[in-house]
Amino acid sequence: MKVTECDLLVVGAGCGGLAAAITARKHGLDVIVAEKAPAFGGTTAYSGGVLWIPGNPQCPAARDDTRAAAREYLRHECGAQFDAAAVDAFLEAAPEAVAWFERETAVQFVPTLYPDYHPTVAGGVDIGRSILAKPYDIRALGPHMARLRPPLRTITFIGMMFNSSNADLKHFFNATKSFTSFAYVARRLAAHLMEVLRHGRGVQVTSGNALAARLAQSALDLGIPIWTETPAVQLLDDAGRVTGAVLGGPGGAQRVIARRGVVLATGGFAHDAARIARAYPHVARGGEHLSPVPTDNTGDGLRLAEAAGGEFRLRFPNASAWMPVSRVPGGSADGRGDGVFVHLLDRYKPGVIGVLRDGRRFCNESESYHDVGAAMIRACEGRSETAMWLICDQDALDKYGLGHVKPRPVPLRRHLRNGYLLKGRTLAELARRAGIDAAGLERTVADYNVGAVHGLDPAFGRGSTSFNRYLADPAQRPNPCVAPIARGPFYAVKAVMGDLGTFEGLSTDVAGRVLRPDGSPIEGLFAVGNDRASVMGGNYPGAGITLGPNLTFGWLTARYIAGAWQPRQVEDAAEPAPSQRRAA
Ligand SMILES: Cc1cc2nc3c(=O)[nH]c(=O)nc-3n(C[C@H](O)[C@H](O)[C@H](O)COP(=O)(O)OP(=O)(O)OC[C@H]3O[C@@H](n4cnc5c(N)ncnc54)[C@H](O)[C@@H]3O)c2cc1C
Repeated sequence: MKVTECDLLVVGAGCGGLAAAITARKHGLDVIVAEKAPAFGGTTAYSGGVLWIPGNPQCPAARDDTRAAAREYLRHECGAQFDAAAVDAFLEAAPEAVAWFERETAVQFVPTLYPDYHPTVAGGVDIGRSILAKPYDIRALGPHMARLRPPLRTITFIGMMFNSSNADLKHFFNATKSFTSFAYVARRLAAHLMEVLRHGRGVQVTSGNALAARLAQSALDLGIPIWTETPAVQLLDDAGRVTGAVLGGPGGAQRVIARRGVVLATGGFAHDAARIARAYPHVARGGEHLSPVPTDNTGDGLRLAEAAGGEFRLRFPNASAWMPVSRVPGGSADGRGDGVFVHLLDRYKPGVIGVLRDGRRFCNESESYHDVGAAMIRACEGRSETAMWLICDQDALDKYGLGHVKPRPVPLRRHLRNGYLLKGRTLAELARRAGIDAAGLERTVADYNVGAVHGLDPAFGRGSTSFNRYLADPAQRPNPCVAPIARGPFYAVKAVMGDLGTFEGLSTDVAGRVLRPDGSPIEGLFAVGNDRASVMGGNYPGAGITLGPNLTFGWLTARYIAGAWQPRQVEDAAEPAPSQRRAA
């Protein structure tokens, strides 16, 4: 068997793995990255590319924010799962890590206007803690361009990526109403089509594709080999110390001896059927789960660590970052199978509500995907099916689209024909087509409309926070999240439960050393990214709360391995978790 030696073997080429690899190389270590998929980038390349970094150097609006306020916010958000040592390390290092990457590498960011997801909770802010990967021209990757995972097909428009934080979306929504927007969209589409003709794909990428491309570019610039189609299949062990791994791949097995150890960064267990059946309540009771996460993320890092004595246990209130999703016929990467659409935007819009099979609403649809997902799991307790139907009328459909259906003038026919979009001349007809309770739906819409004509949602308080309003429609007065559902025909899309990645993971110390069940570290074995149990404790405080910590802890763990950083001693590990939330 071929044997290669290095200082550090990083397993997985997403945000966590590449951040660790780049940092270790910059600190003088000889690094190899082994990646299972034919492309690098992992879930990171599918993502929105938003990082939650309190105190970041980008957002001028956050100047008045303090580390103490962010800590207070996380104390409330994480509750009993608040891990003082990990949170403090994250809050201290995150702005420094971002400044370091911007100074030393091709990884660059721009500010966003995102509020925290619960801005009225003590320590929450209305703006300034989330940053976004700066768009990137991937031609800079040269021959490696073809090895970058393309964006998630269902959230592109004919392969073109939107930028969630700039004028893009506003122009696309306004294209039929404003000449400026129409001209903008026409220019963007023409440029994109030229790119596809020349390069076989869009090359001006945004969001997570830009983040993955920038990280990969930085690693390749440093001479770090990224071996694609090379999964880690076994760890090498020498008297309890991890000394490398056996890698598979089309060329056959090989051994990599890693003098400083192995960093597991395989992106969590979103596609490990056995583990999610244990970890997800809706799957345990027989419900469907559709994950947009790449299918390579099968929990390999967790299995490798467990075989070496590492601990994985279920400890959080939510095992994953929940996301309501819908199944899109023909939406897979090659267009032959079903794809998964993530309901990131439509739920916030006025005139769109979510109901259960009995026709009842169950939550404030303008809360985060994770909160709506958690509410959906709770509302469907005791049933085998966990699902909701997003409902709107013709006006809302024309303005905002619904799920994968784009706003006017993009045609609907395909979606109606393949059953993705359901239509009824009346609410009762729509309910019958969707298989939901017709009387229940009519009653729900009638009740909702009583307040909605005045912009009110007494049942669930839509529009009550800056976050509710952030992705809504500012043109809708007085409440950007609320409009009546009035003019037929009416439409529905069925959403089931999905995830953006797993929160549960390996037990580690702050430095990222994988721990045994007795709390002792396994020498030479580290976990970063979603292989490591989330610092947020299974909670979702704001936009970018996985990528922010993944970049930061990737940086810290690599610096620890290189001998450039030591975690602080914890002074207040026993500090009680807060139970009181400030009223909205
Ligand atoms: C649509 C979408 C939008 C999202 N938007 C955001 C956002 O804006 N902000 C945010 O914070 N989070 C977001 N997320 C979540 C975020 O993308 C993930 O949590 C994050 O990318 C995980 O990073 P990672 O490095 O742990 O794993 P990944 O990026 O998934 O990388 C793991 C890599 O390991 C590889 N691998 C697996 N097994 C092996 C093996 N045995 N050997 C070698 N390699 C292996 C995989 O192929 C993969 O390339 C989003 C997720 C989705 C799906």
